[in-house]
Amino acid sequence: MTAYRDTFQFLPSGAVTLKGPLGTALEKSIENRLKKVNYANLVRPFRLRDENDNGWRCEFWGKVVRSAIRSWRCTRDPELLRIIRETVDDLCSTQTPDGCISTYPEALHTTHWDIWGRKYAMLGLARYYHEIEPSEKIREVLRRCLDHLIGEVGPGARRIVDCGMHGGLAASSILGAVIQAARITGEKRFLDYARWIVEQGGSADGNIFTAAGNGTPPARLGNGKAYEMTSCFEGLLEYYRETGNPAFLEEAAAYYRGVRDREIFITGGGGLKDRVGEFWDEGTLRQTHADAGGFGETCITVTWLRFCSLILRITGDSSAVDEMERSFYNALLGAALPDASCWAHVNPTPLAGASCRKPADDQILHCFQKPFDGHDCCLAQGPEGLATAPCTAILRDERGPVVNLYEACEAAVPLTPDSYVKLSITGNYPDDPEVSITLAMDSEKTFALRLRIPAWSRNTAVRVNGKPIQARPGTYLTLERTWKNGDRIDIAFDFSLRVLPAPDGCGRVALMRGPILLAQDSRLGEVDRAIRPGDSVIVETTSVPDIRRIYRLADGSLLCDYASAGNRFSEDNTLCVWMKTIPR
Ligand SMILES: [Zn+2]
Repeated sequence: MTAYRDTFQFLPSGAVTLKGPLGTALEKSIENRLKKVNYANLVRPFRLRDENDNGWRCEFWGKVVRSAIRSWRCTRDPELLRIIRETVDDLCSTQTPDGCISTYPEALHTTHWDIWGRKYAMLGLARYYHEIEPSEKIREVLRRCLDHLIGEVGPGARRIVDCGMHGGLAASSILGAVIQAARITGEKRFLDYARWIVEQGGSADGNIFTAAGNGTPPARLGNGKAYEMTSCFEGLLEYYRETGNPAFLEEAAAYYRGVRDREIFITGGGGLKDRVGEFWDEGTLRQTHADAGGFGETCITVTWLRFCSLILRITGDSSAVDEMERSFYNALLGAALPDASCWAHVNPTPLAGASCRKPADDQILHCFQKPFDGHDCCLAQGPEGLATAPCTAILRDERGPVVNLYEACEAAVPLTPDSYVKLSITGNYPDDPEVSITLAMDSEKTFALRLRIPAWSRNTAVRVNGKPIQARPGTYLTLERTWKNGDRIDIAFDFSLRVLPAPDGCGRVALMRGPILLAQDSRLGEVDRAIRPGDSVIVETTSVPDIRRIYRLADGSLLCDYASAGNRFSEDNTLCVWMKTIPR
């Protein structure tokens, strides 16, 4: 029933295996986090409905299960599948005859985080339906769940923007889940309900969708709560996919540009203002300010990645992959412990000056003095960010494969219902600039292979079977021809050192090499010392445990990749991103 066909599509489940830093982190995340969660404890509040302290225990099940299902999509791990099936059954068993799935007692229904939590439960079930088991049972559970909500909050009852936290943003973000339920059940009345939500505009403080379309900066939309707001715009894009009305796409695209240009840090994360880095507040400009609050809630990074993934698939705009690549290799990998067993909630603050990473602690214990198994929103959602990488690395359109990420990888890309091409990417990207792509197929085939040429790679050398091809930065290079088994593409990206001045003119600089942000780390020398960057770096052969790559600057000082910097997650392991410079 989708009215609009995306420009790019996901490959089938299990089609892409990443073997570089993202693929390695995903495997660790499955073993050291997703298989270790006590899922029964996440379902317990749904069974007891005793969340009477206005908490958000309701969100964890859906977040963790969405992370698990998307991770399973990448690896098809049988143990993880067993865990997912069991906990989905367990959650469904909490649905009461009235259709309710909630952690809140009836008297508190629709208040505080209740609708937000129901959203994650519905999204978890919808993802299960799409990826694992499209069963009548899940369809019915979703149908009854949404009918129950419509009875409590709907036309003739109450407005959704008057419900819950952050001026209606949290409740309104159920839009995406409503559309999933409409797709799965085929119920037109659910699309009518989605329209009713869209018409209220996401916030009691004014319509954030039309305001974004009119160029209002993200920090001035609603109360500025970054991740709830982005979640509403994810819903708007899903609504666009159903209706095909270009006005909704234009509003969401304007929001994308606003966040990209005004809020995202050089790390690819965003969010500041409060203690834990959760609001839009002109973050691009303020990322060097020590008084800007905590930085970069990991939930924002993950929601930004999901939002960019939708923009990419709908529009084919390669700038969305440039954004995602920066977030994947810097903000996201940098927020995980090296063994991916835990995640940071707030990221190093400030980015200018020495700071450290710390693992998220039990958010419910911290806020309500009652422990909840160590859960934190970012710990629940970080693994989903990792699992977004294989789903982005290689996509396809009707003409052939679309290569977005270049870390080592194996992929099987369907061309027609009964033929496919295998792509093998080799090299040491994102740490080294040279990459080779080899094609394997059983007979010659004519198709277009698209290669993302990042905007930062000013001079990219592409050779097909040794023959040079022109490539333009910030676009897809389309190679359309008759391909044969063993054809090979060699790419050398432009890894020239980029010295980037701080956006607020404070005089500090950040250094990037390819998609990788470089940083000072206390294991490699004094942090927040002034540097003289020079024009290039030397890759060091010395090693320090858990530091992926060390670089030597012209002045002799040592830096490392941002994701490794401070990854002991301890106060004595500091890092600095925006560095002071010695005048030449
Ligand atoms: Zn979070």
